[in-house]
Parts: sequence; structure tokens; C-alpha cells
Amino acid sequence: MSDPTISSGVVIHGGVGTLPPDRMTPELEAAYREALRESLLAGSAALQNGGSALDAAVESVKVMEDSPLFNAGRGSNFDERGVITMDASVMDGATLRAGAVAGVVETRYPVELARTVMERTEHLMLIGEGADALARVEGLQLAEPAFFHTDRRWADLQRAKEQVGARPNVLGGDPSEKSGTVGAVARDRNGHLAAATSTGGMANKTWGRVGDSPIIAAGTYAGPHCAVSCTGWGEYFIRNAVAYDVHARMEYLGVSLEEATRGVIHGKLERQVPGAGGMVAIDSEGAIALCFNTPGMYRGWIAEEGEPSVAIFGEG
Ligand code: ASP
Repeated sequence: MSDPTISSGVVIHGGVGTLPPDRMTPELEAAYREALRESLLAGSAALQNGGSALDAAVESVKVMEDSPLFNAGRGSNFDERGVITMDASVMDGATLRAGAVAGVVETRYPVELARTVMERTEHLMLIGEGADALARVEGLQLAEPAFFHTDRRWADLQRAKEQVGARPNVLGGDPSEKSGTVGAVARDRNGHLAAATSTGGMANKTWGRVGDSPIIAAGTYAGPHCAVSCTGWGEYFIRNAVAYDVHARMEYLGVSLEEATRGVIHGKLERQVPGAGGMVAIDSEGAIALCFNTPGMYRGWIAEEGEPSVAIFGEG
């Protein structure tokens, strides 16, 4: 069944790193569903208050960054040293302006910092200490590294180390152990599109590793045809310029959003690596897509004046 069309609204993902059914208790599932709903409501509230698509995407992502359940902001994965480094990006489809940060350690909302890079500097991407320094200069909220730590992600790091030994960036058989990311795409009343993505990256990542989430055209893209936010095994998303590929298929082949997203996730990517990941997308008419080739993806959508719809497992 195709995904619905909404005039203005928000579509979100909380990553393809869904917990396997044996670790997903009814309480945890309810907590995930509630967090997804809160994120959607924050995005639609931004739209109702006259906010732009970018405002909505950023507000939705901030809620998931604040939730310890998702691998972004608080609750992010640890790298091989046991340190949390976070990446994020935003893109405004109306202007093609974009901002990104990688390897930040003390910015409470990395997605807000990505937006600040876009709006307050002449650059597109800042990394590491320089990025955190901009957060300080611009008065963004900071947090101690301990704020981002959760016992669950610490346990995931230990499991990832046992599973993959010396090969830190290999996605094992169970993606829930290593991956996750949050993202949102939105369309506002003016028909403008925007995308935002934020992540702690993959558990046990090599010190300094950056995935697709802060890379414009790989993990995030927004243009006149559609806005896309991805989740999954970042190296493959970078090589395949996944988010931009969806936009390019619509622009150059004239295909629908559904055909473009399925062609990338279930065609190109799945041929290279089964279980590579997924994405959410919205097009200029408000058609939406929530597409993945993994056992599940935390996800949901809301029309500006509507009720949130959320899902975790099932067909993507
Ligand atoms: N794409 C993210 C990364 O590679 C991880 C994920 O979405 O699961 O850093």
C-alpha cells in the first residue's frame, strides 16, 4: 500500500536500529511510540504557529535528540573509546541552503547547531571543537558529556565490541546493536520542503569516523522536488549519494516519490548490502514515503492539523 499524501506536515524516523523483538518489552514499545508522537506534535505545532518546513523538521528532531531512547543527542552511541561524538545536518529545499556539524561532544541539540552553521556562518560544515565553540559563541545550550550517556548504549558498545572485534564499522547481523539516527522532513503551507538528520553514529565506530547523517546529499537532502532524511549503514549511503539520488530520480526521470525511494532502498542499496537502512521523504505535492529494507524503522507522520501516526516494525 502506498504512503498517504499530506498537504503540509512532518514525517520522521527514529532510525532503523530497532530493538529485536526479544528486547522490545511492551513498556519500551509504548515509550518509543510516545516519543515519536511527541516529536510529530512538536513539528506540527511549529507549522501551526506559522513556522517554516525547516522550523518543523528541527523541532521534531530536537524532541528525539532529547529522548534517551534514540541514538542522537542524549542516548547517543559511544565510539570505540567510549566517547560520544554527534553529527547532524539540515537543508532548506526552497533555497538549497544547508548546514552540518560532525564530531560535537557538548552541544545539547546538534541539529540546532547545524542550523546555526547554515544561518550564522558563510560555511556549510563545522567539525569537532570548532563546531562546539560556535555553539558557545552563539549561546546555544551546552551539556556535560555525562548528560548524553545512557547505560543501554554503554551495553550496546560492549556487545558491539564482542561481536565485531577489530572490525568496528561492520554492521553485524543485528543492526539494533550498532545503528540508529533520527530525522525529519517537512512541507509547510507555502509548499517549501526541508530535511534534518541527527545521530550519534554507529556504536564502536572508529575514533574520528563520520557517517552519512551530516553529509548533504548522502544522509540529508532537500530541493524543489523532495526532502529526504536517511538512516542506516552510513558508508553505503555516502557512496551512493542516497538522499540526493532520490531527488535526482524525481528530477531527471520524472518518477514519483514512491518509485524513487523504493528504487534506491529496495533496488540499488539492497543489491549491495541487504539491511542497509531506510529513509523518510516528502515531495512538493505532499506525498510521503517511509521506506526501509531492515526489520523495522521507528517512524511516523502527521498532517499539520492531524493526529500522529506511528509505527516500528512491518513492511517498509
Ligand atoms: N547513518 C548513521 C551513521 O552511519 C547510523 C544510522 O542511521 O543507523 O552514522
